[in-house]
Amino acid sequence: MVVTEKQEGKDMKKKTVIMILVLTMSLLTAAPALAADSSEGAQTAGTDPQTSTEEQVGASEQEAADAGYKTYSKYIRGAVVTKTATIYEKATSRSAAVKKLKFGGKMVILKGNGKWYKVRIKELYGYVPQSKVVRYNKTKKHIALTFDDGPSAVTTKTVLKALKENKCRATFFVLGSCINKNTKKIIKQEYELGCEIGNHSYSHPKLSGMSLGAVKSQLSRTDRKVKAIIGKKPTVCRAPYGAYNKTVLKAMARPNIFWSDDTLDWKHRNTSRLIRVVRSGARDGDIVLMHDIHKTTTAAVNSICKNLKKKKFEMVTVTELAAIRGKTISKGHTYNRF
Ligand SMILES: [Zn+2]
Repeated sequence: MVVTEKQEGKDMKKKTVIMILVLTMSLLTAAPALAADSSEGAQTAGTDPQTSTEEQVGASEQEAADAGYKTYSKYIRGAVVTKTATIYEKATSRSAAVKKLKFGGKMVILKGNGKWYKVRIKELYGYVPQSKVVRYNKTKKHIALTFDDGPSAVTTKTVLKALKENKCRATFFVLGSCINKNTKKIIKQEYELGCEIGNHSYSHPKLSGMSLGAVKSQLSRTDRKVKAIIGKKPTVCRAPYGAYNKTVLKAMARPNIFWSDDTLDWKHRNTSRLIRVVRSGARDGDIVLMHDIHKTTTAAVNSICKNLKKKKFEMVTVTELAAIRGKTISKGHTYNRF
């Protein structure tokens, strides 16, 4: 009786050990597939980018939908690179690189799944992380609204509300001296809306009359404050009063962004005038200068966005505008439109 029980106990132990071994083996085999799925997003089953054609893409729409991919309308399928991007063979950065694109590189989006776009560049097909490209509408005109001298805890939020409501982006040339515990969150909101943060110096002096060291200090103090909030320093600058010389450009070591459309909003302080001036002056590739520290300006932004959308404009950041318009943007140069 006792022996039998012992024997049974031994048998049970053996069985348990075998079962654990089998389970471990199967988990180990499945692990790479599981890891790939969770870290890289779903791949499209059975789609071979090398052999795909436009027709096949159309035919596999159901399959794409099954894999969580959404097909984009042909009007919003343009995408552009504002830094650098690698196009991969599959929807994983561990697959082979099909092509590397630099600033201004363009592609057609075929479909997307929230993390990856399947794209076509001429005859090449591949996948790109969505965070690496900016989508734009190729059939529209493009314009950059820019707002200087903020952030303001009182007025800037009106601009952000209007941009959000109209799905528009803008560039904010900020002053380091205006970034404090009350306005920090405004910079964060601007960035989260897809807006660009530019450096407009620390305390708005006339930089052209200053030494290289003094100009550098004006810029780096603002850089540090912006970086502490959004994790990176601005990649574009704008000299206060438009006053610059070789020393200022050297200190910036980034493009100096001017404007093609000076609204003189600071002088007139008249909302309906500003709306009228921006609407009638807007051209493809323009950079519009405004100031988000005046209530008369911020009150105009909602109407400005709506009017420009009616006139078939997309409102993008300065850097995006350059990329979309196929222009280069380099340090040591001043740009007033793209
Ligand atoms: Zn200014």
